[in-house]
Amino acid sequence: MNIAKPFLTRARSHPHLQALTSSQGSLSFAELAQRVSSLAGGLRNGLGLEPGSRVMLWMENRNEFLELLFATWAAGLCAVPVNAKLHAREVAPIVLDSGASIIFTSGSLQSGLMDALGSLPDSRPVVVVDDDQYQALARALPMACAEVAPTDLAWLFYTSGTTGVPKGAMLSHRNLMTMCLQYYADVDHVQPGQTMLHAAALSHGSGLYALPHLFSGGHQVIEQGFETDAVFEALQRYADVSMFAAPTMLSRLTRAAQGINNCAGNLLTAYYGGGPMYVNDLLKTLDIFGPRLFQVYGQGESPMTITGLSKFDHQGNRDEAHLARLASCGTARTGTEINVVDVDGNALPLGELGEVVTRGDTRMMGYWNNEKATAATIKAGWLWTGDIGVLDEKGYLTLRDRSKDMIIRGGSNIYPREIEEVLLRHPDIIEVSVIGRANEDLGEEPVAFVVVKPGAAVSGEELDNMCLENMARFKRPREYFMTDSLPKNNYGKILKTELRKQLVKGGQ
Ligand code: ATP
Repeated sequence: MNIAKPFLTRARSHPHLQALTSSQGSLSFAELAQRVSSLAGGLRNGLGLEPGSRVMLWMENRNEFLELLFATWAAGLCAVPVNAKLHAREVAPIVLDSGASIIFTSGSLQSGLMDALGSLPDSRPVVVVDDDQYQALARALPMACAEVAPTDLAWLFYTSGTTGVPKGAMLSHRNLMTMCLQYYADVDHVQPGQTMLHAAALSHGSGLYALPHLFSGGHQVIEQGFETDAVFEALQRYADVSMFAAPTMLSRLTRAAQGINNCAGNLLTAYYGGGPMYVNDLLKTLDIFGPRLFQVYGQGESPMTITGLSKFDHQGNRDEAHLARLASCGTARTGTEINVVDVDGNALPLGELGEVVTRGDTRMMGYWNNEKATAATIKAGWLWTGDIGVLDEKGYLTLRDRSKDMIIRGGSNIYPREIEEVLLRHPDIIEVSVIGRANEDLGEEPVAFVVVKPGAAVSGEELDNMCLENMARFKRPREYFMTDSLPKNNYGKILKTELRKQLVKGGQ
């Protein structure tokens, strides 16, 4: 089943429903389907792309992103979504690795890309499409939706590289279809006329939330970026709004909501995930957005599909059991299995820390062009996530940290998240990130980067005392760096690699 088909079916049954709205205008289901089929015809018959060719989408949030995504699938091609905030020099290796034969970009990104592509060792022709060419393609003769095999490649997602070099996770039509069915099972039976608000980047896995909504007659509202005022306005204006927000975005929204009446408006569901949401931040968010929150744990290799902390998990008495649940990332999603294993892959007893593994039909097929990385990541059918976690007797998974972020100080393991959770209880701290700094005697030691509220004064000594009261001595950060902001990627994720570079550059 081609993943474009359920959308085309809905467009036939409900042609007049609104499909898409942004500052560029609105399209009905019939209009969007028309553009999708014409673009598909343009890609295959106009540009002569062969089935399976990779089509790169490197653009800000715009209508074209969703038009092209569905056109690519309808044409039997594979989409390669790329973060619009990447530098052209970072995009060029992705062009090379994916073998993309065509790149759709929005205006300003184009010129830098042409220079960067010129420096590639491979001189394979790559077509970069500008706006005029795009409009011509959208007027091409429509084609019927292509037949594909369930395992044909649909979405080649380059991991954002917060811990290393990007690798292309290969997701098939079946993977994406299972993801949608899982959405209906665990999150929401979407009804025609409900809204999916895309304020986070469409090129992120969360852009795929458009699928279950478009299949069921939902309306996609596309914002250019995550601006809190615009989000609040959309929550008032549109019906039954669902949206995705990275934890850092949700916390921004919560801070901006102070003093605004009924700011949750018509919010139905806010999915958060993609990085840790600290309990202290979550409690403040719950006060404002109530039981509308759904946490997702996933990664490019299994987008948003490993575990979920459902809306009813967020409700509770805020006793210890409930707080422990809030600190977890929930239970296995429908159709997904999870386990916590030792280095040899043996399942560990409940309550013991180990690496999280997962399997099921949402798991990627492997890394594009990278058998070695695939073999190191998928073993005996299980995807090794690189995350350290623990399962409890009720099946709730609590993540400690990424194994690559764990700090080993003189042979003892320190999980930065534990320290971050403590520091964030300080009323004047907005954000914090703990990383390991090289130390000759101990191997590594923790240091913290801290963002405090404007005008507030927080001393390292005060924070040190706070840590001493809450954790073993050896875990506490040896130094605090006060900073105005933390480096984040386009998806709102804190870039620890950048902080490590800052440490090295500053000789700290
Ligand atoms: P790379 O794989 O190149 O290092 P990345 O870390 O940005 O890049 P992503 O796929 O974007 O890769 O992020 C997935 C990771 O984000 C997960 O493995 C996990 O560590 C973290 N994560 C995702 N959801 C949650 C969550 N709900 N709670 C805590 N951490 C999460």
